[in-house]
Amino acid sequence: MERYNLGFNNLGLDERLLKAVHNMGYDAPTPIQEQAIPAIIAGKDVVGCAQTGTGKTAAFTLPTLQRVRPGNRRPVALIVTPTRELAVQIEGVAKQAARSTQHKVAVVYGGVGYGPQASALRKGVDILVATPGRLLDLCNQRDCKLDRVEVLVLDEADRMLDMGFWPDVKRIIDLLPSARQNLLFSATMTPEVMRVAGDMLHDPVRIDVSPPNKPIDKIAQSVYPVNSQQKFDLLLSLINEHDLNKVLVFTRTKHRADRVAKVLGNAGISGAAIHGNRSQSQRQQALDGFKRGKHKVLVATDIVARGIDVENITHVINFDLPNVPEDYVHRIGRTARAGKSGTAFSLFAPEEHDQLRDIEKTIGAVLACEDQAGFVYAGDRLVPDPNRESNPKRGTARVTPGSGNRKSRPGSNSRRNRFQGKGGGGSSAS
Ligand code: AMP
Repeated sequence: MERYNLGFNNLGLDERLLKAVHNMGYDAPTPIQEQAIPAIIAGKDVVGCAQTGTGKTAAFTLPTLQRVRPGNRRPVALIVTPTRELAVQIEGVAKQAARSTQHKVAVVYGGVGYGPQASALRKGVDILVATPGRLLDLCNQRDCKLDRVEVLVLDEADRMLDMGFWPDVKRIIDLLPSARQNLLFSATMTPEVMRVAGDMLHDPVRIDVSPPNKPIDKIAQSVYPVNSQQKFDLLLSLINEHDLNKVLVFTRTKHRADRVAKVLGNAGISGAAIHGNRSQSQRQQALDGFKRGKHKVLVATDIVARGIDVENITHVINFDLPNVPEDYVHRIGRTARAGKSGTAFSLFAPEEHDQLRDIEKTIGAVLACEDQAGFVYAGDRLVPDPNRESNPKRGTARVTPGSGNRKSRPGSNSRRNRFQGKGGGGSSAS
């Protein structure tokens, strides 16, 4: 018997799925795949704590294809995910694998016409990937029936809760047969996720491949204190001086994402914005342009960022600090994928000191402050005290930036205050 991919051979995948893995070019399973695939094949419910980038999509897709037979009219496996980008990505993985298994895969999400999605469903679907709102609409219009679903996957459960999708998810669950296998994946296991997981899972196998709220060790992180007006100039300076070619920039609002993209464009740096107000085709175009290298910079808000799986992003820049500290971890996790290292810069304005404090408390570490060499800083920025503590009860680790930075450490002599004003006029530049 022909055998594919030695690393995957002992997980219980059948010949068709091993062939699929081989065609996908994977040599060895990732930790989440190693643990989830046998449990799912055994028919167990699974709750998996894993971020995007860990290989979780294949971890639930491959065994799900093995669990359900192809050739159905109505979906027998349903994968619910919060964003269109994630839905498209999961569809891609499922379709790739389904070439070896002959399952029919369809995807439905909002922001585009109903017609093609309804007609795809009419043609017969085995595996359906969906965002909650559109799926519910299609069910309400009787274009989709979920009474044959044997396996339910809830992907990014924490994000679906954050985005207020849970009432829709519950309505969807009410449309499913009660005897089914449930797989729930979440980047973080918050008490709320645990509560909803507890409600729907039966004796689940628990898999945790990412210690919650700990950024990946391979990411060099630093904070750049600057006043809010100078953030645009500092961003340009960081991109130019470090000669950044694949950088993801995060802003707090859609409006600011557009503004940053515009400022970049005016400065001759090709960039595109991706956020919830842009149409699906605009979002896809921006993402494709970034993947292909047409855009050096992709400017994103947190909600759509979940779906961004782009290889070789070298830098993440937080133009604004996120309000939800866990988002910091997700944002910077877009770099340093697949064992590579990465760098995260955070621009820090005085009005963001609560956010910085919360982030440091969440990650249990103090972020090193840096100055951009040669940048002339205005006088009204706020430089965090280098001796501040992230969480006095737990002790304080320090996250240092990567080597090779041509920068000085601002404010290194003060022990007085946790945060202190810093003089301008380029005083802090090395
Ligand atoms: P995910 O966490 O599902 O978003 O996967 C992140 C990336 O890892 C995707 O680009 C996959 O193609 C890739 N990937 C998934 N599993 C493996 C594997 N076993 N070996 C190598 N790459 C993988």
